[in-house]
Amino acid sequence: MFDLDDTLHYASPEIFKIINEDMTSFIMKHLKINKEKANEIRQNYWHKYGSTLRGLMNNHQVNPKKFLSETHNLEKIEPLIHSEKSLPRILRNIKSDKVILTNAPKEYATFILEKIKVKKMFKKIICIEDNSFYSKPNLKIFKKIKAFGYKNYVMIDDSIDNIKSAKICNFKTVHISNIKKNSKYIDYSIKKINELLKIKFIN
Ligand SMILES: [Mg+2]
Repeated sequence: MFDLDDTLHYASPEIFKIINEDMTSFIMKHLKINKEKANEIRQNYWHKYGSTLRGLMNNHQVNPKKFLSETHNLEKIEPLIHSEKSLPRILRNIKSDKVILTNAPKEYATFILEKIKVKKMFKKIICIEDNSFYSKPNLKIFKKIKAFGYKNYVMIDDSIDNIKSAKICNFKTVHISNIKKNSKYIDYSIKKINELLKIKFIN
């Protein structure tokens, strides 16, 4: 299982900046509030509900499809997409089934994966729409995936919270980050996706 943003491509800081600005604008427009208040709500919901969208749905009856399309402007994002050159080769070398598990919407995930030329290598792309707009690290999502019936699961993700949930559900875990964290939930740490093939349990 592969996370998408900041795992397979570099979403920080530029792409996330655009998405966050568009989310703030959406909240300003929808709730008729100023920028400062909208920013606060965006961050509060992120912490409280695991995603801004869930908070908006629960408290303000926001239409999720409208929110996702207005906050993931592919035209603005396209010139900023970049990934490691070796990514297609690395993924080709992993013979096990590969699945994307992301909190991003389907249209955005598909667009990014096509752009970085790896979409065909994934057996399945699981997005926020597939999880009733709940997001990682919600344990429900990892439990649902266990029902696929594979013998072993590996989660590769830059978020320590997601790694923790994956580990609780008996996944092997690979944390990808420039900042090395010590955690009992991490089986292996890598700085870049280029180092993935060094890991014994990846094959
Ligand atoms: Mg990520």
